[in-house]
Parts: sequence; C-alpha cells; structure tokens
Amino acid sequence: MLDGSTDYDVLIAGGGNAALCAAISARRAGARVLVAEGAPRFYRGGNTRHTRNMRCAHDAATETLSGPYSEEEFFDDLLRVTGGRTDEALARMMIAESKEMLTWIVEQGVRFQPSLGGTLSLGRTNSFFLGGGRAMLNALYRTAESLGVEIVYDAEVVDLAIEGARFRSATVRHAGKDVSIRAKTFIAASGGFEANIDWLKEGWGEIAENFLIRGTPYNRGTVLRMLIDRGVMQIGDPTQCHAVAIDARAPKFDGGIITRLDCVVFGIVVNRHAKRFYDEGEDVWPKRYAIWGRLVAAQPGQIAYIVFDAPSLELFMPSLFPPVEAETIGELAEKLGLSPAALERTVAGFNAAVRPGTFDHTALDDCRTEGLEPAKTHWARRIETAPFYAYPVRPGITFTYLGVKVDRAARMVMADGRPAANMFAAGEIMAGNVLGQGYAAGIGMTIGSVFGRIAGREAARLVSSASQSPEAA
Ligand SMILES: Cc1cc2nc3c(=O)[nH]c(=O)nc-3n(C[C@H](O)[C@H](O)[C@H](O)COP(=O)(O)OP(=O)(O)OC[C@H]3O[C@@H](n4cnc5c(N)ncnc54)[C@H](O)[C@@H]3O)c2cc1C
Repeated sequence: MLDGSTDYDVLIAGGGNAALCAAISARRAGARVLVAEGAPRFYRGGNTRHTRNMRCAHDAATETLSGPYSEEEFFDDLLRVTGGRTDEALARMMIAESKEMLTWIVEQGVRFQPSLGGTLSLGRTNSFFLGGGRAMLNALYRTAESLGVEIVYDAEVVDLAIEGARFRSATVRHAGKDVSIRAKTFIAASGGFEANIDWLKEGWGEIAENFLIRGTPYNRGTVLRMLIDRGVMQIGDPTQCHAVAIDARAPKFDGGIITRLDCVVFGIVVNRHAKRFYDEGEDVWPKRYAIWGRLVAAQPGQIAYIVFDAPSLELFMPSLFPPVEAETIGELAEKLGLSPAALERTVAGFNAAVRPGTFDHTALDDCRTEGLEPAKTHWARRIETAPFYAYPVRPGITFTYLGVKVDRAARMVMADGRPAANMFAAGEIMAGNVLGQGYAAGIGMTIGSVFGRIAGREAARLVSSASQSPEAA
C-alpha cells in the first residue's frame, strides 16, 4: 500500500523497458527502489509490450544473430536515418554500451530467438525477444520483484516538487488518493506524449485528430510536460516521431504491430482523390516503411489507399483485417468511397507507364515506370489481374521524440545548462537526444535499455555517495 511513509532512494515513473532496466540496475547497486506504473497491472509496460526486437552492436554471429554488426556500422545507420540529427557523443556511447546489453539483458531473464521470416530482414542487426515484448517485460518484472524492487500499479505521477535543479518528491495518484512520495533521486521513464492528441495538435495542428496511436493510451507526456515546465532542458522537435502507415480500421490506441501493412511496394498508393503522391518503390521496405506515416499525414483527410492486384496478395505478411476486394477497379473505388473514374484513370496511367523488367521483390529490381510523375522506381508491375484489392491506411504514431536533455550519465540537464542534482531520464522520454528524426528498427529498445541501466546505476551511485555528503542526492 502506498501511503507516503517510506523514503525511497530511487523513485521511477513508468513501467516499461526503460523503467525496469533502471529499477533492476539501481536495485542491484543496493538502492531501495519504487516503480510507479501509471497503467493497471494488465496493461503494464507501455509500448514495450508491443515490441519484438532490439538493435545492439556485436562483433560476431551468435546463436540468434546471423552475423556481426560493428559499432561503426550501427553509427552509420543511425547517421543515415537521422540525417545527422543526433548527439554524436551520446549516440556513440549508447552504441558502445549496446554491446553489453546482449548479455546484461539475458542475465535479467530475457531470452532471444532468431528472427523469423517477414521481419523486415533484421536477422543480423536485431535481437528478437523470445515470446515478444510482453514476455520480455514479464521476465524483467519477475527479476525486479525477486530483487526486492517495489512496484505499484495504477499509480500515475501527477505532480513533481522540484526546487532549482533538485527533485524533492512526487505526487502519485493511486487508489483514489494523491500520495506524496519522497525519494533521494528520480528517474523519468514514462514514455513520450504520443497518446496525448491535444499535445500532438500543438505540433501538427487539427490533422492530429486523424492519427491512430499504435501503442499504449497511458503515454500522455504528463511527466515530460512537468519536467519541461519546471526548468529541465527540452530537446527535439514536437512533430518528429516514428509514424508508419497502418490499417485505417485499427483501433484508436494500442493496435500494436499487427495493424501495420507491408504491401506498399507491391502496388500503388493513392489519396482520397485517387491520385498517387510518392514513389512506392523507392527502396527496400525496411528502409522506407517509417516514412509512410508522415506521407499519409500530408494527404487530405490523412487517409490513403494501397491498391494492388491478385499476383501480389501472397507476397507480404497477412493482414489483421482482410483487404477490400473487387472484380474491377471501378467497383473497388466504389467500395473505398473514391471516384471510380479517377481511380480507373490513375491505374490506367500507371499501367501504361510500366516498363518491362524482371520482377524480384527481394532486390532493387528493374521494374519501373517511365514518364510518370511520381515515378515508381522498382517493383512496378501492371495492376491488371482480378481480383483487385485495397487497404485504407492512416498515420500510425509509434512514439514521439521531443523529450528532456540528458548527459552521458542519463542525468537530466536544466534549461540553463546545469546538470540536474538528482534527476535522470531513460527511454522514449529522452529519445530525442539520439533521434532528431528518422528511425532504425529496434533502436527504441536500445535507448531504453542502455539509458535505463545507466540511470539506475548512476542514481544508486549518487545515493551511496550522499551517505558521505548529504546534499549529493
Ligand atoms: C506497435 C509498436 C511496436 C514497436 N516495436 C518495437 C520494436 O520491435 N523494437 C524497438 O526497439 N522499439 C519498438 N517500438 C518502440 C518501443 O516500444 C519504445 O521505444 C520503447 O518501448 C520505449 O520504452 P519506454 O520504457 O521508454 O516506454 P514504454 O514502454 O512506453 O513505457 C512507458 C511507461 O510509462 C507509464 N507512464 C506514462 N505516464 C506515466 C505517469 N505520469 N506516471 C507513471 N507512469 C506513467 C506507462 O504506463 C508505461 O508503462 C514499438 C512501439 C510500438 C507502439
């Protein structure tokens, strides 16, 4: 029972990967730790529940990884996807530390498995959790509990008492009461603000109303907002996030991984006016899937339709909801609520522009259009064999990047540049330090694990040094 009578060494807001890695690491270093998870027990673990893998550098193939992935290659991948918008020193440190995560996380009870088919070809770079993110989380919770970490569910941090750069206490809403919890250090691991539509609207405007949120409804940015308002330095752009095109029929929140559609490269994508708007065959899908959320967000009504024909139906992962199906393009348009004439024109124009080539969906093939704007530069095949299919898609927001600035010790930095006295952050809430834009699959979990482990360790270190010097923590 949470009654405010205990003074903790470390209070952690959140209950996902970052929070649990921080809790375990702080507890192993001897600290008394309380994890306040805003969600009920069944929904514990935020977006981490939906994950499948984590990207870590490693020198050689392992039982579950098909080959080496050097720190330099990881950094190059990060530079490419972010267009250089990353804190190089922090990113390099994270990548170096990621090497240790492959053994550290296993020591905490998590098991890996080789990647399966249809997993964006990540078998060399990314370690897949045996049983997925929920199994991974369950292992972390089991370990944390067995070590004596105290965990309270349905415990939202609703206020923070911060004096200058020093955390004093947090108000936690639990069992209908607001309880003040004192702790020597505070770790913010409470995710981004992706489930807070009003906050998304501040960056995106009214169109954010049409976004679907792929993960937990509990990541509303409450703690992030308080930290920024109380003088912690903000980092990142409010509109930068990981956003993919997902089935428009997905639920508003928490639809998870199964509502993603990986068939863009096999057809054409049209907007509400039945017009194409981007090269569907620009590059292999793992390198491009994360741009389609923003592309669809820029279309009228924030909706688009992936249109393809019978030969492509079995080339991609099966979908949760069946595609809309019709015997003719005109009938398909009617079912989608599009103008049949407009869609017929677009498909006819596309088909006429397709040049002969050798279709190979495993490589950048030579099937392309000529004289079409925008071009389709690979995997362009005529859409001509009934039945015809379509999926409606909307932007699916995975997580936001705007966060708090941290240093190498995962310690927050105040707006005036001073390090915070006793406040740390890990995971989505500080992802913007590493991800200025773009995304490389599996890096969300790297950010949470590496900075979570560091935050826990450093918070515990601060607490123990405070026994010598009382104001240290
Ligand atoms: C569908 C989907 C698939 C994904 N797949 C992958 C993948 O395979 N690999 C990968 O690396 N990344 C993936 N991601 C991204 C990944 O989930 C996140 O980067 C990662 O889980 C973030 O961990 P976290 O601990 O920071 O946040 P979360 O796991 O989201 O945890 C945040 C926690 O904070 C709690 N909380 C929020 N506000 C408060 C408050 N005020 N008080 C107390 N608690 C609060 C929430 O309840 C939640 O438990 C995926 C995301 C989604 C949505």
